[in-house]
Amino acid sequence: MTQAHQGTALITGASSGIGAIYADRLAKRGYDLILVARNRDRLNALADRITTETQRTVEVLDADLNDKAALAQVEAKLRSDASITLLVNNAGIGTHTPLLSSDVDKMVQMIDLNVTALTRLTYAIAPAFASRGKGGIINIASIVAIAPEVLNGVYGGTKAFVQAFSQSLHHELAAQGVRVQAVLPGATATDFWATGGLPVEHLDQNIVMSAESMVDAALVGFDRGELITIPSLHEVEEWEAYEAARKTMSAHLSRNTPAARYSLEK
Ligand code: NAP
Repeated sequence: MTQAHQGTALITGASSGIGAIYADRLAKRGYDLILVARNRDRLNALADRITTETQRTVEVLDADLNDKAALAQVEAKLRSDASITLLVNNAGIGTHTPLLSSDVDKMVQMIDLNVTALTRLTYAIAPAFASRGKGGIINIASIVAIAPEVLNGVYGGTKAFVQAFSQSLHHELAAQGVRVQAVLPGATATDFWATGGLPVEHLDQNIVMSAESMVDAALVGFDRGELITIPSLHEVEEWEAYEAARKTMSAHLSRNTPAARYSLEK
């Protein structure tokens, strides 16, 4: 079945794992694609397959998003290509190593990719989406945004940023027609784990989802207009209670006197 043309989706980290599945699914939904990652051969192979299967136009941009000049080129593409209707900020790295055994330079590289590049790419497209009154931004966070004790703390911190930034983007831009979704995958069977030093085979397979199932579920969440999508959380009422508690507490967080429990008088 031929899908109506949806414009162009720019997907970062599209050469493997979750990003490659987004590329496949979005092409099948009628998007042309711009695929971004470092590995040009893998991007080209994916682009060839998707073009053959869907007849959609697929452009490849090989860029190291840790490299300022390469990142600037992707930003320029987002600013200049008016066909882009969806940005999928997916490129990211992580690790499980604790603070005392992880290298701070590697941690800063992680922040540069997971936070700085995602932020710059969002800033590059958000004004155009807002002025057109249309456009979507899908940010791939992680369940460690909520549970930072699970893996490396800097990784958890970067994903908490992605979640908070997405919530704020939604708050600021939803009224202008910009759709924002943060996806919080649990453990997903991709190269992410081996790249981070812990092959996925070493995990309890009861907690590992396939990338296909994760992305298909996340797109159902996107279709339903969800801001936060946690594909592996069966107990949605737990998220709803957590979010309701956060919103209740938000109204009480700033006052002109300290709470009584901090009184100097005993
Ligand atoms: P993956 O298969 O390792 O994919 C990571 C992607 O990011 C690859 O396409 C990689 O391509 C790209 N990338 C890495 N460094 C880059 C750089 N400097 N510049 C440009 N692209 C770069 O892992 P994945 O699981 O699909 O990860 C995708 C996202 O899901 C990440 O943000 C990750 O944090 C998140 N996530 C994953 C899991 C999980 O369990 N797998 C769970 C929660 C969240 P190149 O090497 O070709 O550049």
